[in-house]
Amino acid sequence: MNVITSAPTPLSIADLDTINDSPKTKRVLLLKPRGFCAGVVRAVDIVKIALDTFGAPIYVRKEIVHNSYVVNDLAEKGAIFVNELDEVPEGARVIYSAHGVSPAVRADAKARGLKVIDATCPLVTKVHVEAIKFAKQGYSLVLVGHRDHEEVEGTQGEAPDVTQVVSTLEEVDALVVPDPEKVAYLTQTTLSLDEAKYMIEALKKKFPNIHGPHAQDICYATENRQVAVKNVAHGADLVLVVGSKNSSNSNRLVEVSKNLDTNSYLIDTADAINPEWLDGVNTVAVTAGASAPEVLVKDVVEYLQGMGYGDVNEVEVMPENVRFGLPPEIVQAIASAPRV
Ligand code: SF4
Repeated sequence: MNVITSAPTPLSIADLDTINDSPKTKRVLLLKPRGFCAGVVRAVDIVKIALDTFGAPIYVRKEIVHNSYVVNDLAEKGAIFVNELDEVPEGARVIYSAHGVSPAVRADAKARGLKVIDATCPLVTKVHVEAIKFAKQGYSLVLVGHRDHEEVEGTQGEAPDVTQVVSTLEEVDALVVPDPEKVAYLTQTTLSLDEAKYMIEALKKKFPNIHGPHAQDICYATENRQVAVKNVAHGADLVLVVGSKNSSNSNRLVEVSKNLDTNSYLIDTADAINPEWLDGVNTVAVTAGASAPEVLVKDVVEYLQGMGYGDVNEVEVMPENVRFGLPPEIVQAIASAPRV
C-alpha cells in the first residue's frame, strides 16, 4: 500500500519558479485552498448532527452537496436522499441541500407538515435575497448560470415570472424584456470568473443601465480555488481536480486549467486516474472542488507517490478562514439534547 510518509513541504508562489528550473523531477503540487468550503462543512455537519440528535432516518432533498463519496457516507449513517418531497413521509424530518430550494418547495413542505432543517449555504441565500429585492422593485431579472443546476432552479423560483436564465452569449443576444431600463442580473455562485465576466460585459452592452448585486455572487470558495489553479497551472504538465461530475465548481477548475493550455481531468477518486495521463508528465498539480473531502485528495497523492512522484509540495496561494454558523433548528436541537 502506498502511504504519504511525510507532510507535504510548504512552498510559496515565489518558489514555483525555482521548481520550474528543475522540470525533470517528478513532483506533486498540492494547491491550497482546495476542497471543502464553509458551506459544505456546514451542510455535512447539519446532516451528521441531525442524525446524532434525532436518529435515523433523516430525509435529505437532493444530494446534500455534489459529491458521491460524501453522499454515500451519509447514506450509510442513515440519511435517505430523495429527489422530491413527495418521497418523504408526512410529518417526517427533511433537510434542504446546500444548493437551496425555491419558495414552491418550502410551501410544499409546509403543506405536508414536514419538519424542515435548512442547510442552504448562506452565500446562496444571499443571491435569493437579491432576487426577491430586485423583483419587488419591478426589475426583470437575468440569472447567469446553468439552468439544470439545483441552485439556479431555487434562485429562479424566487421570482419565476420575471427571471430568465442565460448561459451563453447567444442567449444574452436573444433576451427580450418589457423595459430595457429596468433590468438586473445575478449569477450562480459557482461559475467560472472568466465566463461570468464576459457574460456580464455582454449584458451591460445590451442593457447599459442594467443593475447587478452589490458584491459579486460568485462565492469566495469558487473564486479562491480558481485563482489557485490560475497561479499554478502554467508550471504544471497536468492538473487533477478531485470532484464529482455534477459538481459545478469542480468542472470550472478543469476548464480554468485547460484555458491555460494545461491538460486537466476531473476525478471522483484516485481509481479514476488513467496511468496513460502521466506519460511524459513531471509536475502534477492536484486540487479539489468545494464539495470533495480531503481523504480523497490524500488517496490521489498516495497514488501519485506510488507512481514515482516523490516530491510533494503544498502551494498556498492565499489563506482561507471562512466559517458559517449552524441554522437555528440545529442549534436548538443541540441545546435541548439530553446531557450524557
Ligand atoms: S461553493 Fe460557495 S456557494 Fe457553494 S456551498 Fe461552498 S461557499 Fe456556499
